[in-house]
Amino acid sequence: MTERGATHPHFAAAAPERRWTKSLGELKSTLRQEAFAARGRWVWYVLPHGAFVAMRVNPETMRKELRIGRRTHPPLGAPPVDEQARAKWALELKTFRSYLGAESWRLVEDNYQSAVLVEAARPEPQAPPSCARCGRPAEAGPYKEQLCNACALELGRAESSARSGT
Ligand SMILES: [Zn+2]
Repeated sequence: MTERGATHPHFAAAAPERRWTKSLGELKSTLRQEAFAARGRWVWYVLPHGAFVAMRVNPETMRKELRIGRRTHPPLGAPPVDEQARAKWALELKTFRSYLGAESWRLVEDNYQSAVLVEAARPEPQAPPSCARCGRPAEAGPYKEQLCNACALELGRAESSARSGT
């Protein structure tokens, strides 16, 4: 156990340039910038309380991936830790997701001491509907076809004159 205020042994053991001493907000922008510059390789830091945070841009999907973890007991592969430790981990994960802007990212792996998250796919931009007759921007109306205001007005007139003509 580390005493309150004491640095975690994993933090102390890390190379100085891998130790993160600034805010989590700054970690977010630094990781993103460095991950883009690293062209697919992982960039990572160790935080004073012993957590590892790594990011890369997957070269195939071009989506960012985030790895958050700590090396604690039990070692990797051991059965899940107790309820209290799981709750603590869940809170830590939530905190990192929030500070690193990864709340909407998909959790693809979580073994209660490390987790992998993948950036959510951006929704395809929806093309605005266009008028079936003239191609200008249309609004959803009462007709089967999507029509712009001008064409809808014209259709309405044609229909009413057709009705009055019979
Ligand atoms: Zn039209």
